[in-house]
Amino acid sequence: MKTFSFTCELPNGVHARPANHVETLCNNYSSEIKWTNERTGITGNAKSVLSLIGTDTLFEDTCTISVEGSDENEAFEKVKQFIETEFEHCDAPLETANEDDGEFVPLPRNFANLKAEHIRGRAVSGGFGRGKLVRVGAVDFDSLTDLPPVAAIEEEKNQLEAGFETLSRSFKVQLASAAATEADVVKAHLAIVNDIEFKATLDAKMAEGKGAAEAVIATAKHYTAQLRNSASAYMRERELDIRDVCFQLLQAIYGEDKFSNSLALTGPTICLADDLTPSQFLELDKSLLKGLILTRGGSTSHTVILARSFAISTLVGVDETKLGDRLGYEVMVDGDLGLVVTEITKPVSRYYEQEQRVQDTVRERQAAFRDQKGMTADGKPVELAANIAHSIEAGPAFRNGAEAIGLFRTEMLYMDRTCEPDEDELYNIYCQAIEDADGKSIIIRTIDIGGDKPVDYLQIPAENNPFLGYRAVRIYEEFIDLFKAQLRSILRASAHGSLKIMIPMISSLEEILWVKDILAEIRQDLRKEHIPFDEKIPLGIMVEVPSVAFIIDQCCEEVDFFSIGSNDLTQYLMAVDRDNAKVTKHYNSLNPAFLRTLDHIVTSVHRHGKWVGLCGELGAKGSVLPLLVGLGLDEISMSAPSIPATKERVSKLDSRQCRILLNKAMDCRTSLQVEHLLAQFRMEQSDAPLVSRDCIMLDADLRSKEEVIKTLSDNLFLAGRCRYPNSLADDLWAREDVFSTGLGFGFAIPHTKSEHIEQSAISVSRLAKPIQWGDEEAQFVIMLTLNKHAAGDQHMKIFSKLARRIMQEEFRSKLMNAASVAEVENTLKSELELA
Ligand code: PEP
Ligand code: MG
Repeated sequence: MKTFSFTCELPNGVHARPANHVETLCNNYSSEIKWTNERTGITGNAKSVLSLIGTDTLFEDTCTISVEGSDENEAFEKVKQFIETEFEHCDAPLETANEDDGEFVPLPRNFANLKAEHIRGRAVSGGFGRGKLVRVGAVDFDSLTDLPPVAAIEEEKNQLEAGFETLSRSFKVQLASAAATEADVVKAHLAIVNDIEFKATLDAKMAEGKGAAEAVIATAKHYTAQLRNSASAYMRERELDIRDVCFQLLQAIYGEDKFSNSLALTGPTICLADDLTPSQFLELDKSLLKGLILTRGGSTSHTVILARSFAISTLVGVDETKLGDRLGYEVMVDGDLGLVVTEITKPVSRYYEQEQRVQDTVRERQAAFRDQKGMTADGKPVELAANIAHSIEAGPAFRNGAEAIGLFRTEMLYMDRTCEPDEDELYNIYCQAIEDADGKSIIIRTIDIGGDKPVDYLQIPAENNPFLGYRAVRIYEEFIDLFKAQLRSILRASAHGSLKIMIPMISSLEEILWVKDILAEIRQDLRKEHIPFDEKIPLGIMVEVPSVAFIIDQCCEEVDFFSIGSNDLTQYLMAVDRDNAKVTKHYNSLNPAFLRTLDHIVTSVHRHGKWVGLCGELGAKGSVLPLLVGLGLDEISMSAPSIPATKERVSKLDSRQCRILLNKAMDCRTSLQVEHLLAQFRMEQSDAPLVSRDCIMLDADLRSKEEVIKTLSDNLFLAGRCRYPNSLADDLWAREDVFSTGLGFGFAIPHTKSEHIEQSAISVSRLAKPIQWGDEEAQFVIMLTLNKHAAGDQHMKIFSKLARRIMQEEFRSKLMNAASVAEVENTLKSELELA
């Protein structure tokens, strides 16, 4: 036996790529070649990538290689030479993980100060949720208990061998057509299937008397345990590959029926997936699904749209490699801040308990609006409707206050299945929605298949620019039976409730005329067959291709109503792919050009006495709502959870002021100017007193400066004085950074002059127990938040007076000993001479 030692100079240690070089070289020799990492004490087979990775060799680890066998001299020389001259260069440095969260907005100080372990992602559906992190698509091998019966050992071996062959064949087929990133993954998987150590481990498990299934599971567990313990995040990531390959091997041996990918959630769960299909999403139990983390996906993909409609906090673009070792552990997804908390400490729990309190309060308040009609303060009705993708969403949507269904996206009824739904199936689904609607109207949009909504069995070829290509109404002629079956099912269902038909992606009058001909044909057929339907069923079109905006007058002669698809209209007008995370920043619906287009559409439709709604994601954006009201839309349709909040917001708006605002916005030169205009508008909306009860708390259980600043800022949010409590808190912290505002005597006066406070306020919190406030202790906190743009210095004078009063013992003890919120309020008002 010959040995030599060396130091690993690879900055990223021995991961798959360098291990592959070593493996390839060593497999040229018959001698046994072993690699021992002296730091970990683990010895691996140098002819196996998996085994090499398993030694957990990192930068600067000392390693020993031993060679023993018939060709040991030659092997020793070659391997030694390789290690000394080439090894160091056989790996390009990996991109270092983006530790400073580069592209993401900085976290609010109240959260950042908690120093919680987290990773960032792009938030696409708000709220937060806590649960066990589970990978969809990957498997929990511990839960695979109902295994196939074990046959004779030879038969088991043959099954395993056949499974191996099927799997490597399938990988090779995939490789032939895979795009670059996907090909890398398939290659890595193929390498595992071909790894001699992987096979040897399987054989060893079989030799212990295990059947093929049990051996695969035991092998999976063996390697996942080994990789999971690696000190390198990159190595830990390989665990997912092993899981994937082993599960695919089980499927190759026993079929997908026996080992199915579908995931039954067993408790509160956060699902991690590359990109979930809409049907996979719909299959998940929503009562247990607490969050969704997608490594790919844009903000308007259909799974994301569904996630929003079920109020599931969702992040996209998350770097999975940083999460691999958290599988099976509890994590928190925050769809507002755009992060996953990977370790939930006590302060983190308390932070989210406070968030929950805020959300509960908001929900309770909005409940009051749920059953009211959407109406502005000056009495102008704006119907607030829901977008749904399946009839199962209709009930919850109406219960959440939807006045109608403004968009029933039907393509999902066709997706993720092996053949199309037949007329009766569709009819039953539409009838189910009608039942929940209880007389309210439902706009059923005919299929928008193609583009980002693939349907395999229609075999529509892939395109370079699918959004610009063969989708929606453009495919109807080729799939005419499919289209006719859908129209028939809608018409039949229309006998039982108030349905409307809407056609997507219309770009010319020809298309409308063609659709009307088909529709007339179907009506005629139904009449002949004596099948009842609504003879007056309205026909409408989506306005989402810009060309339609210029032929509204002609369209009005042919259709009954319009609905603006702001998602596609934005993407087509601005030439920005809505599903491409890279160009999201250009996807801006506040662009004055876009606002002018919207105004032109609405004005033209109304000039012809027709009805127009808006059903894109823009409808749920609270900040843009004054502009939408200013447009004079008849209806705004959105994901159901946003409806109560929108009703509340609409009720506070004056439609005439909104119109003036829209006119100003259309005159702006940039989106940023429009944003400022909206901010100014919000600030001018109401006039609240400086001191009010809803911003006073007595004997609060707040345990840190962070908790105090957060809670008082949240109170201002709940009182409608501030829209972004985190930003307000950041401004308060900026002041604290310069000097801590502890005054002594147990008092602290955090303060700021901020653009994030819409009405200046004095907030109070008397704490149950004193806390550390910089170098001082504080038990009584008076927080002063002054509007940056407020005219005059009247508020400033009041604040100075307050600061002087606090220096007086009598004033302090009055506050400290106040028996009620009212007493604090009165004391402040009288001492500060507020009317
Ligand atoms: C839109 O384009 O705005 C729309 C509502 O349709 P979809 O998102 O289904 O394309
Ligand atoms: Mg669209």
